[in-house]
Order: sequence, then C-alpha cells, then structure tokens
Amino acid sequence: MTRVVDQNIEKLWADAAVVVQNAGKVVALTGAGISVGSGIPDFRSPGGLWSRFSPEEYATLEVFQRDPAKAWELFRTLGKVLAGKQANAAHRALAELESMGLLAGIVTQNIDSLHQQAGSRRVFEIHGDHRHLQCLCCHTLIPVTPEQYQASMIPLCDHCGAPLKPNVVLFGEPVRDLEAIYALVADCDLLLVIGTSAQVYPAAALPAMVRQGGGRLFEFNREPALPDFGTGRSGRKDHWFFPGDVVRTLPRLVTACRGD
Ligand code: ZN
Repeated sequence: MTRVVDQNIEKLWADAAVVVQNAGKVVALTGAGISVGSGIPDFRSPGGLWSRFSPEEYATLEVFQRDPAKAWELFRTLGKVLAGKQANAAHRALAELESMGLLAGIVTQNIDSLHQQAGSRRVFEIHGDHRHLQCLCCHTLIPVTPEQYQASMIPLCDHCGAPLKPNVVLFGEPVRDLEAIYALVADCDLLLVIGTSAQVYPAAALPAMVRQGGGRLFEFNREPALPDFGTGRSGRKDHWFFPGDVVRTLPRLVTACRGD
C-alpha cells in the first residue's frame, strides 16, 4: 500500500491526479465516513443509531411487517438525524469530478442522498434512500414530508391502505441495483473507496473485483480499513491510501486534477 504522507506530498497529489486522468473509468464507493462531515454520525459508531436501536429489534423487514409501529420508532429517529443535513466538500468534490468527465458513477451505502444534493448525477444507492416512502404491497413510491417523520401516526398508502415505510433497505430486504453496480465496476480502472471499510456485502466485493480486473484502488479513510491490495505484477503501486478527513483530502485530489 502506498501511504500518501507529508513528505513530498505535492508530488504525490500530482501523481494521484495523473492516475485519475489516465484511468479509462473511475468509480467511487462511498460509506458513512463521507457524511460525518455533514453532521450524520456513523450508525455503527459508539453512540450511533445502532447502539440505541438494535437492528434485529427495529430494522428488519419482519419487524416492519409484524409491528410497523415499532419500526416507525426507528424511522422517526432516523428522520430527525437526517433532517436538513447539507452536502459537504467531499460530496461536492465527487460531483465536480463527474462534471469534469473524470468519474463514471458513485456507488453509495448511504441513504442520505447528499451526493445528489451536491450535484452528482449517476448515483447508485445500494441501501435505498430516505427521501421517499414506499408501499411494499402495491409498490407506490411517494416523496416524504418532514411532517410524516414528526407525526405519531404511521403513514398509510393512499392506494391500498397498507403501512408505508421509508424507501430504505431493511435487513432481510434485497439490496438495490446490484446488476447495474457490477456492470459499472466490472471494467473499472480505478475505484475510489471513500469513508468505508467496505466490510458489508455487496460493497465488500467491489475492491477485490476491481483488483482482479487489473484496476487500482485509492482509499480515503481516517485509518487504513481495507485489506492491503498491494502492488501489481509490474511493480506498479495499485493501492494508495490517503489518510485524514475526506472533506479535506477529496477536494485536494480534485484541485490536483484541475491542475490548480
Ligand atoms: Zn399501497
């Protein structure tokens, strides 16, 4: 793994920009760490959502179907956590890379839709999104209102009367867009892994898939979280690690790509 550290840091950012510019296809994989700078704590962190609401007790499809009022205790809290949150410099950096023609798409494990808010156009939300309510019975999808997260009543479907749920993937539900994500990543030359340890399927499969296809990894995490994918056959550096806060490191990469 190549660790980008203070020594010769300008040269390393310039080298990293060359890798991005010369890659035929760059894809980003993002997780909770990119939204921490927007005031959304990692659900898995100490004090995070999952320490207050055990996923087995509140966040499964089975719980929602058996006891929607219980699942809605979690959904209301989630609504409060995400209400009014704004995209940060890291989200905007990825939107700018896409507008420069240097990013083919984003695969995100987040449900906050801050990539779209920042202006990214091609975003695959593996775990769904929090902007809509869905009906599992008749597949109606409607935009959510803040009032629906504040009300004590469970919102019901206008068409069939069934309880609605946020358009997020509960445990026990299939993840979204898997075929499109594999197609996006299959011939990817460079995967930007941002704010995630990528330990949960299907995100966990993507770094190895890219390496098997001969592509490179740029990892942006506070601490190294991926297994070391090391050096390629030709001695090429294939796994670069950029330590620090992504709200600083990602804009720095974009600046280097612009040649400022
Ligand atoms: Zn319905």
